[in-house]
Amino acid sequence: MRASRFSASYGAKVAIAEAHLFGGTCVNVGCIPKKLFSYAAHWREEFEIAQAYGWTTGEPRFDWRTLLANKDREIARLNSIYERVLAVAGVEIMRGRATVVDPHAVEINGRRYTARHILIATGSWPVIPPIEGRQYAITSDEAFHLKELPQRALVVGGGYIALEFASIFHGLGVKTTLSYRGKRLLRGFDAELSERIAEEMTHKGLTIHFGGEPASIIKHPDGLEVCYTDGPHQKTDLVLFATGRKPNTANLGLESAGVVVAADGAIPVNKYSTSTCASIHAVGDVTNRINLTPVATAEAMWLARTLFRGEPTPADHENVPTAVFANPNLATVGLSEEAARERYGEVDIYKALFRPLKLTMTEKKERVFMKLVVERASQRVVGAHMIGIDAGEVIQGMAIAIKLGATKAQFDATIGIHPTVAEEFVTMRDKAS
Ligand SMILES: Cc1cc2nc3c(=O)[nH]c(=O)nc-3n(C[C@H](O)[C@H](O)[C@H](O)COP(=O)(O)OP(=O)(O)OC[C@H]3O[C@@H](n4cnc5c(N)ncnc54)[C@H](O)[C@@H]3O)c2cc1C
Repeated sequence: MRASRFSASYGAKVAIAEAHLFGGTCVNVGCIPKKLFSYAAHWREEFEIAQAYGWTTGEPRFDWRTLLANKDREIARLNSIYERVLAVAGVEIMRGRATVVDPHAVEINGRRYTARHILIATGSWPVIPPIEGRQYAITSDEAFHLKELPQRALVVGGGYIALEFASIFHGLGVKTTLSYRGKRLLRGFDAELSERIAEEMTHKGLTIHFGGEPASIIKHPDGLEVCYTDGPHQKTDLVLFATGRKPNTANLGLESAGVVVAADGAIPVNKYSTSTCASIHAVGDVTNRINLTPVATAEAMWLARTLFRGEPTPADHENVPTAVFANPNLATVGLSEEAARERYGEVDIYKALFRPLKLTMTEKKERVFMKLVVERASQRVVGAHMIGIDAGEVIQGMAIAIKLGATKAQFDATIGIHPTVAEEFVTMRDKAS
């Protein structure tokens, strides 16, 4: 959508083919409905916190069907806005699955269309490993349309989608287990963040099963029985696999245009997002670079600028901020401590760990964790990491400073906003290491 709109605004004649719903994964079965569910799940704690502030709330009751209906209404509204925006931009809309026929032609609903450039932005698809009983498991796609909320849920995976759904189910009152075959959640994130988020989620009452994964699922009249690779069995009502997604390139006709596809199904592209075929380009999840919506849309805009505005713009994947909307929230930008040590050798680390003001009058023990990673030689801040309320909102601001190459001294020279959680990022004076 973004590539179509920007290309059209630069004067290109553009058509878009969509097989399902406009807005893709993010709007329909990704970021947006996920964040709405995450808001819903956070209310449980808000009701508890409210009591410390003098409110009498009574016994809160949650209705899954109301949430689902309101979410569906909002998504339908977004779908129609997205389609209208394309029409206004002058993009020709074609409904149907497109396949590539040759380097300059695609086929949609049995008709052939030719173009100077073809962009593949077909996204990715969730996969369930081939274990016995996999037909009883679901993925995040189905989780957005469950008729009933289960009483017990097992979420499998250690990435952000797994943590987010585990937190959503737990917050909505489902007895939830998170199962991850490794020892550390959120591979690739700063190790301390991974450890602390596991601690915080466990404190909130979620069970985390490390070191094993489901080997089989058996259906019984009273629920599902999951047998783990490391021995134990567990009864549950729902198993959600969030263990990976596969780029959507199967049966797309790419071979007919000489487009090379990697073993994982992704389309390898150069820094201008062009595939091994000069007239076929690819952006977003289908390239399996950094699978986030703002990255996909940025890649789309860079490509449109390169092809239709005469400004060759290479992709820039440095310092991409990202958030995990688990409970508590976690967000990060730049390098982890481990990655920074590997790249720069010597680094300075600054940390803060504290109970946020909002929780000080409550029984809640949740703590905010913040960490800055500074390259010692240049004193540039190369990583900012946070676990705590609205971490994503805070780190978005930090991302600008880090993208601009701000130094620790410039962070220190910035006046804080008091009293906020975010001010800690400009008041960390003592090196932790
Ligand atoms: C549960 C979940 C939560 C997420 N949360 C976040 C988040 O909080 N923040 C974030 O930044 N990212 C998040 N993501 C990732 C984000 O959704 C993706 O990175 C983003 O949607 C990728 O955009 P895309 O355009 O590459 O692909 P998609 O959004 O998947 O769009 C691909 C489109 O192509 C269509 N299509 C596929 N094949 C064809 C064909 N042959 N012909 C015609 N149309 C076709 C599909 O129907 C789809 O509409 C989340 C993903 C999931 C699954």
